[in-house]
Amino acid sequence: MKSIYSLSLDEMQDWLEDKGEKPYRADQIWQWLYRHHVASYDEMTNIPKTILDQLKQEFIFSPLRTQIIQKAQDQTTKFLFELQDHSMIETVLMYHHYGISVCVTTQIGCNIGCKFCASGLIPKVRDLEAGEIVAQIMFIQRYLNQQAKGEKVSHIVVMGIGEPFDNYDNVLQFIRIVNSDKGMAIGARHITVSTSGLAPKIRQFARENIQVNLAVSLHAPNNETRSSIMKINRQYPIEELFEAIYEYIHLTNRRVTFEYIMIDGVNDRPEHAIELAKLLRPMLKLAYVNLIPYNPVAENPFERSSEENIARFYDLLMQNGVNCVVRREHGKEIEAACGQLRSQYERQRREKRARRTKEELRQLSQARKANQVQN
Ligand code: SAH
Ligand code: SF4
Repeated sequence: MKSIYSLSLDEMQDWLEDKGEKPYRADQIWQWLYRHHVASYDEMTNIPKTILDQLKQEFIFSPLRTQIIQKAQDQTTKFLFELQDHSMIETVLMYHHYGISVCVTTQIGCNIGCKFCASGLIPKVRDLEAGEIVAQIMFIQRYLNQQAKGEKVSHIVVMGIGEPFDNYDNVLQFIRIVNSDKGMAIGARHITVSTSGLAPKIRQFARENIQVNLAVSLHAPNNETRSSIMKINRQYPIEELFEAIYEYIHLTNRRVTFEYIMIDGVNDRPEHAIELAKLLRPMLKLAYVNLIPYNPVAENPFERSSEENIARFYDLLMQNGVNCVVRREHGKEIEAACGQLRSQYERQRREKRARRTKEELRQLSQARKANQVQN
């Protein structure tokens, strides 16, 4: 069943009109959802019961059930949710000097399969519905309301599990809902979408006429290195990716962020920094590089670059006129990197299942033995 959070305001109005109801009820319902952040239909006290009953029949309220909430020392909080089909997703809440951001998941698993990424280990099971993405924001807003400090989600990063441009329509619908003046009204400039580089979708995104920030996971300055860690680069090599990015910049006049995870011995040498600076030279004013210390994942051999290598890389970029920053880490001790909590949870679940099976087998064989003795 779809969630009520999947509907845009227009769709809500159409739905009401179909039922012979007044469209202004849509505004009222949206106020309950996005201004009062209610947790159930029954809290919508000015909506007639007949409408609520029909809503309940057609739309689930929140499709999320919490499994785990983990809080790190820096207050970064990670939520593991179970969806209606029992799939697991994760969402991260982060505190910054400029506000509170939420990192959302857009797919169950990811088909892009980058070698360094925990999410890429699990092939895509399905795309998330727009409402399943909106619900992550609303759950966290309600969590903040419970803390009673008057805090509000102010920024969104679409950087959780999944490739957002491989679930383009739902992600766009999600953005329009949370950005809507009558919804959460989160400013487009406060929303960042990160893609592994699906060139045709970058071109499409450039034409959407929304002021959302675009981040591209570059991670390497040449095809050889990039293809060795991101197989998507074979489909959309750097030349094609950059053509799409130029088009995006040309059409939107917006800055592009390049994410660059620093992996020891793979992409962190001085020659990589020089090559990266050359690659970005034609767009220097509009390019911004985020150097991200790699978060090691149990399932692969990659290690984080040393502090010295990161500092040397940063200095070289700066000397060559590239705007860049080393991204501060959030929630280091709670496995806050993309997909890590989920993969850790799944691992534990598998191990538990294996232990249980072993225990069952042991009991069975004991029972058999006892039986044989009796016989
Ligand atoms: N699929 C999209 C968005 C989700 S990943 C994308 O790839 O851009 C968000 C960012 O986290 C990407 O830049 C990704 O490369 C990075 N990332 C993935 N695993 C990581 C890890 N273990 N440590 C640090 N960054 C990681
Ligand atoms: Fe998918 Fe992004 Fe992870 Fe690559 S880095 S596997 S695109 S989630």
